[in-house]
Amino acid sequence: MSTESRVAIVTGGARGIGAAVAQRLAKEGHAVAVVDLDESSCEDTVTRITKDGGHALAVGADVGNTEAAQAAVDRVADVLGPPTILVNNAGVTRDNLLFKMTEQDWDTVMNVHLRGTFLMTRAAQAHMTKAKWGRIVNLSSTSALGNRGQSNYSAAKAGLQGLTKTLAIELGKFGVTANAIAPGFIATEMTKATAERVGVPWEDYKKNVAAQIPVARVGVPEDIANAVAFFVSEDSGYVSGQVIYVAGGPKA
Ligand code: NAD
Repeated sequence: MSTESRVAIVTGGARGIGAAVAQRLAKEGHAVAVVDLDESSCEDTVTRITKDGGHALAVGADVGNTEAAQAAVDRVADVLGPPTILVNNAGVTRDNLLFKMTEQDWDTVMNVHLRGTFLMTRAAQAHMTKAKWGRIVNLSSTSALGNRGQSNYSAAKAGLQGLTKTLAIELGKFGVTANAIAPGFIATEMTKATAERVGVPWEDYKKNVAAQIPVARVGVPEDIANAVAFFVSEDSGYVSGQVIYVAGGPKA
């Protein structure tokens, strides 16, 4: 596989899947901007990358905020160079059955996943189209196929698949690909919080979930980082507009 050093942005890179993706991209030789709500929360990931001999920058930004998203991309371009890899990973859940879901629950989830991905991509694509090369990877979810208690999240994650396909169509002629990864259950703070909310001890929760998964284990953030590495590689330029379910089996 050919390698070239690029500048990558990973949103929600302070922990979980985003942190693993940032570390993997750094290992692949890219300079990585770790973007999360607070700049200080990105330091752990940046330190781990730097210790391993990589190059990383911490950037604080709420991706759902127009000015903050643009400023984050501008800062990356100034400090690291034009970003040509963007992984839209930042995410939140506000689960509730529809009849109990508030407008705030709905708007929060839409703002981070959909608006955040839109704003970050709109800002970053300017650099990609100029460079005539780019890779966009959006984090969808198996919940895009429907999941009880997640009408907001499943709508946002299905929306991201439509956005990804349209980005692929609009940006292809500039050498830019756009793809989505739809993880199944991945052990992170996000899923740990779900276990806490339903009152099941974390280890039991993971065991119960693993029993339903064909490969008989839960996913780890590195499983997703691996799929990201494939989509952003130099050799993947003919793979665009795709959604890959990384869920330990064929079904969500
Ligand atoms: P996580 O909660 O551990 O990490 C999410 C990160 O995003 C946090 O560091 C958080 O601060 C950051 N973030 C939230 N809102 C932000 C904003 N407005 N601006 C910038 N950063 C923001 O979650 P995770 O499990 O690592 O999930 C990462 C992505 O993968 C999310 O998009 C999630 O929806 C998706 N996903 C996760 C799973 C899973 O099982 N964990 C499954 C499918 C999809």
